[in-house]
Amino acid sequence: MDFLSTMPGVTWPALPGPRGVMRLALLHQLAATQWWSAEQLAQMQLRQLGELVAHARKHSPHYARTLAHLPRELDEQSWLSIPILSRDAVQTQKASLRSQSCPQAHGGRQTIFSSGSTGKPVAVEQTSLTQLFWEAFTLRDHEWHRRDLGGKLCSIRFFPDGCAAPPLGGRGPNWGGATADLVRTGPVAMLDVRSTVEQQLEWLQKEQPDYLLTHPTILESLLRALEDGAQLRLDHLREVRTVSETLQEGLRERCREALGVPLTDIYSTRETGYLGLQCPEHEHYHLQAENARVEILDEAGQSCGPGSIGRVVVTPLHNFAFPLLRYEVGDYAEVGGPCPCGRGLAVVRRILGRQRNMLRLPNGQSHWPILNYKAMNAIVPLRQLRMTQLDLAHIEIDIVTARRPDEGTEKRLGEEIRRNLGYPFQLVFRYVDEIPRSAGGKFEDFVSRVA
Ligand SMILES: [Zn+2]
Repeated sequence: MDFLSTMPGVTWPALPGPRGVMRLALLHQLAATQWWSAEQLAQMQLRQLGELVAHARKHSPHYARTLAHLPRELDEQSWLSIPILSRDAVQTQKASLRSQSCPQAHGGRQTIFSSGSTGKPVAVEQTSLTQLFWEAFTLRDHEWHRRDLGGKLCSIRFFPDGCAAPPLGGRGPNWGGATADLVRTGPVAMLDVRSTVEQQLEWLQKEQPDYLLTHPTILESLLRALEDGAQLRLDHLREVRTVSETLQEGLRERCREALGVPLTDIYSTRETGYLGLQCPEHEHYHLQAENARVEILDEAGQSCGPGSIGRVVVTPLHNFAFPLLRYEVGDYAEVGGPCPCGRGLAVVRRILGRQRNMLRLPNGQSHWPILNYKAMNAIVPLRQLRMTQLDLAHIEIDIVTARRPDEGTEKRLGEEIRRNLGYPFQLVFRYVDEIPRSAGGKFEDFVSRVA
């Protein structure tokens, strides 16, 4: 890393400012802890959780009430007796969950909103300290994937303040909060997700990124355009990074095919920070044990073993302003076995999105649907598509396309969709001008309204 020095008169070796030094202190430890055994990580995590629980009991009315039964010394058994905190409870009991006081050294409190994809946002408070951890784990991700920080980063994401409006987008001198005031980086160019795929292609062609950071659904529509014959020549591109949404099946392969580079995904939520980073050597995720305790639980509340899928329950270790203890974020994930890379950080094979993204079948079963975009697009050139399951028999399909297909084509599309969904649903096609993203810029391509 090409460090920036803030010490007058010192350029080499560089001395970054206090906040940069704190990030480095964390990064230095993370370089060692990733190789710890699962037991060693669990032990230190429990010690940190003890600090958090003691604070929560003292300063948050909700936890004063619900954790009164816990012994002074936190152990694994008492940890498991802490009730699961639902998203709904975070929305409705904000005042009693937040800490009435927080160590001053944790820095200013800030309210952040996690929009999810639909429905009511969750608002929690965070501190400068939680932000510091966010930055340190961003640096770990850069290290793991051996990024050349001197390269150019292009980001097609949600920029709420209008700084990255199409067609030109915005620019910055540094990659962002994690590297600012610490490392000299290449420039960053930003384009708002609320741009058309044509604008995105044109912008990328002009900007020529080394790294592209975007949402999976944005990448999917770019790849679809390329598979349809759109021209894009990116001579320097080395990697595509995706954030914020569930990664669809097959997207990695399509990315490699159409752009010739690997895809690296990140699993994080705004209210909890980084949860999983992709292993440097494999396509699964390592849980970030030093940032949050992540439990993957089955319907009975027991830990899932390798190969099974469960609810993701998270406890950020360092948020003392708004303690979230055993918070059910709403996602599902599949547990993996130990990683051959040798890191002791637990493995998650894939993140499966939320329960409302599951298809419900009349026989009582449910599963995450596979939407075969490549096959659908070969029948009707799609700009956007969203399926809404209305009940056990009907699925409504909103489509944005340049030209409305004729009856025979629509019928073929319907057959393809039914084949992928694995059930002869009645399909209701609606042709619309646009399918808007959520307030936070997220997009869900399948939502079930079946309770
Ligand atoms: Zn690994």
